[in-house]
Amino acid sequence: MSDVAVSQEINISKIREEFPVLHQNVNGKPLAYFDNAATSQKPQRVIAALNEYYKGYNANIHRGIHTLAEKATKAYEATRATVKNFINANEVEEIIFTKGTTDGINLVASSYGRNFIYEGDEIILSGLEHHSNIVPWQLLAQERKASTKIIPVKSDGTLDLTVFNEILSEKTKLVAVNHASNSMGTINPIKEIIDKAHQFGAKVLIDGAQASAHLEIDVQKLNCDFYAISAHKVYGPTGTGALYGKRELLEAMTPYQGGGEMIKDVSFDQTTYNDIPYKFEAGTPNIADVIAFKEALDFVSETGKKAMAAYENSLLDYATKEIQKIDGVKLYGTANHKVSVLSFLIEGVHPFDIGQMLDARGVAVRTGHHCTQPLMDHFGIEGTVRASFAVYNTKEEIDRMIEGLHRIVKFMK
Ligand code: PLP
Repeated sequence: MSDVAVSQEINISKIREEFPVLHQNVNGKPLAYFDNAATSQKPQRVIAALNEYYKGYNANIHRGIHTLAEKATKAYEATRATVKNFINANEVEEIIFTKGTTDGINLVASSYGRNFIYEGDEIILSGLEHHSNIVPWQLLAQERKASTKIIPVKSDGTLDLTVFNEILSEKTKLVAVNHASNSMGTINPIKEIIDKAHQFGAKVLIDGAQASAHLEIDVQKLNCDFYAISAHKVYGPTGTGALYGKRELLEAMTPYQGGGEMIKDVSFDQTTYNDIPYKFEAGTPNIADVIAFKEALDFVSETGKKAMAAYENSLLDYATKEIQKIDGVKLYGTANHKVSVLSFLIEGVHPFDIGQMLDARGVAVRTGHHCTQPLMDHFGIEGTVRASFAVYNTKEEIDRMIEGLHRIVKFMK
């Protein structure tokens, strides 16, 4: 499908109208926001949902019988059903609200890990992981006297699965990899990874932070054991997200945070825990943001993820082609299957300088290690410049970035 057809189908200018933040000048130039892998912008309906909750029915959930509490509870639980459908989980009880992907991974490491990882066990990660999918496992491995093994990254930013097959063994208890890389854009062959890990009886956690806005997610088809996402990377609010876990695993895990909501009965002698998912939702949650999260997912579903991804890929293809015309450019992450992330360096120009000079032209990109220091070390670099595209970006904005880069190169060399 040509990008013209796709853009007509999903009407980019109408979509842009839904995002108030896009319509401003930054440093005297129209904003071109290419930092979507860090966090995406929010449509008006998400902002309105936050407003409506605080203006109209702010109340604590689950425990109240008054009208506002019931309304808030209904809205909160409606998001759970929407997340369930968004990732095609089997049951709403398998969806736990978290602060985001980091929180979801920490929940699994702390709860599943402390219950089921023992001395001598191995946890397999990949060289493409965000620090959020490395450090919780290191903490766990230290505590349990287990160890981590790493699937290496090839020069194009894909994983070396030959090594994965070699390091996978009966000792492997858990494999934690991302669905898509935030630094290189690589879409990982997670179905293959999950199936192989299961042959050895290992459980698999998928970090879906970068996939949720771009890729179809079907946790039943994937047969993953855990899948973590952040609302703010998929047009929703910050500070919330969801963790999917298979019912039998969640039921077998003890909670790692205690407090209100997660109990059935408390006495000083003995406490019994609530059923899933509430067992893992101690304390008053981020009610407003969870409610608004539904609007973000509905926005994606109504716009059509497939059409969105096709359009974003057309932007990526265009930007990839144009950037290679710049003198001294080197791309990081050249896999065939990528989400819309373009990571690059320009010989002789520090990435921070590129970031600052583009910002002066209203173009927002991210520079640095993108919370993937081991990956940067692997490539022998400190960081990259990263432009990551969302459905509201345009070719015209990319042209402005490319023109800016041409000028920077001219100016710096
Ligand atoms: N994993 C990946 C691949 C990410 O890109 C990010 C955020 O950039 C995270 C995990 C952490 O997400 P959050 O900060 O929303 O918890």
